[in-house]
Amino acid sequence: MQPVILGIDIGGTRIKAVAVSKERDVVEKYEGPSDAQDGPSAVRLAVALSVEYFRGKSLEIKAIGVGCAGSVNPLNGVVRNSPNFSHWRDVPLKEWIQEDSSVPTQVENDANCAAYCEWKLGGGKNVHNLVLLTLGTGIGGGLILNGELFRGSTGTGGELGHFSIYADGKPCPCGNLGCFERYCSASALREAVNGKYSAREIFMQAASPEFRPLIDRFLHDFSIGLTSIANIFDPDLILVGGGVAKGVAPYFPKLIQVLKTRAFPAVAANVRLEVTQFGNLSGAIGAALLAARVNE
Ligand SMILES: [Zn+2]
Repeated sequence: MQPVILGIDIGGTRIKAVAVSKERDVVEKYEGPSDAQDGPSAVRLAVALSVEYFRGKSLEIKAIGVGCAGSVNPLNGVVRNSPNFSHWRDVPLKEWIQEDSSVPTQVENDANCAAYCEWKLGGGKNVHNLVLLTLGTGIGGGLILNGELFRGSTGTGGELGHFSIYADGKPCPCGNLGCFERYCSASALREAVNGKYSAREIFMQAASPEFRPLIDRFLHDFSIGLTSIANIFDPDLILVGGGVAKGVAPYFPKLIQVLKTRAFPAVAANVRLEVTQFGNLSGAIGAALLAARVNE
């Protein structure tokens, strides 16, 4: 049996999981519903199902890494709360998964996992200061600072979806007002058209008179957020992932131009803006790589 580490990315609607070999190759993939709307116990079951899938592939599961949105304590694997899983309070995810699978488990914030994957294997290789933004249900943030994954004091560091781009703006489930993700996530775009179109569809028809003002507004708001991020972290690279990343990518040169007028000149001249290489698998792969590091 081939020894592998599983990486499981728990999203608002889907679970994406991978089995990663010692050579860091993805040898098997799984995708299924996360059932997050039915509460933490339903997610526990969905994770157990994904583990069962890999067991059926004659793989020897050495460890499990899990990526989950929200404030995660990486030491005990408790998900304290998550703006996108409204009923989650102090969910002992690590304990549950270890109990169900009998495999050592590590739980991390999902965007931290994605940042780690892109830094180790993707476009962020050899980059000293890297910022990752995932535009999805919310905006996830992951930081590699001075060549290390940055978690903050409680594991909640780098929540880049939750700084205000408008003082006293739209309320956010996190408790703050005017958060970046209330304006620039895929959900925020969808909300702007009353759920009639997805963010991806809006970007695909960018030239239409109906969507043009929406996209201009998005780019304006996104550039405000990017300017703050660039000025605060002075990163070499900002990677954009999530379902909308490809839609936004054609506007990267324009966004860099705006950065040149708003951010510190040295920062704007240095920073690159790119799309993630591993797309929607970066969270799962990063979770596996982080679990491998713990279990080395
Ligand atoms: Zn918020």
